[in-house]
Amino acid sequence: MFIIRMYYRWRYRTNQIVENRIGTLEVLLLSVAFIGMLVIPLTYVFTPLFSPANYYLSNWAGWLGTAVFAAALLLLWRTHADLERNWFQSLEIRKEHQIVTTGVYKYIRHPMYAAFLLWGIAQPLLLHNWIAGWSHLLSFGLLYFFRVSREEQMMLDQFGEEYRAYMNRTRRIIPYLLRRKK
Ligand code: SAH
Repeated sequence: MFIIRMYYRWRYRTNQIVENRIGTLEVLLLSVAFIGMLVIPLTYVFTPLFSPANYYLSNWAGWLGTAVFAAALLLLWRTHADLERNWFQSLEIRKEHQIVTTGVYKYIRHPMYAAFLLWGIAQPLLLHNWIAGWSHLLSFGLLYFFRVSREEQMMLDQFGEEYRAYMNRTRRIIPYLLRRKK
């Protein structure tokens, strides 16, 4: 994930930001997500701190977790490739920002969050521990819950009808769910 992001950050490093909606809540949510996705799992791997909360799953879980995790990384890479210069890890609008509705964005509005959700599903299959296994799903769940409507509002304010039409023909993270594609 870091390699993917480092590459795209470097590639579009000259981008200017024209709209910034990063408030205290956003900083807090990003910090919690960072702890859940990296700090807690690494603490589990390198220290015995969370060992009392271990559970047991047989080998199949590891393989399934690896497959789901690989799918998450693949999707994460595709979202960056499709978003190109329109990506930022928080709520911001770039100069010459354009709505992306192609590639994986054709199917859902938040494929990057879908990738992180897959990561959250893979983690308890890979790290057999009630704390380290579930920390990402929990912390990312919080981020998603508090961010997604605000992000959509920001896109609506910026792009109006164009984004509204896109919203009408797509679902947030699970394609085709309940609503038929127009
Ligand atoms: N929610 C998206 C993108 C996450 S990155 C996803 O899950 O794939 C967050 C940034 O992406 C926001 O700052 C916003 O400016 C930008 N963004 C979100 N959806 C976009 C879209 N369809 N086209 C272009 N930029 C988008």
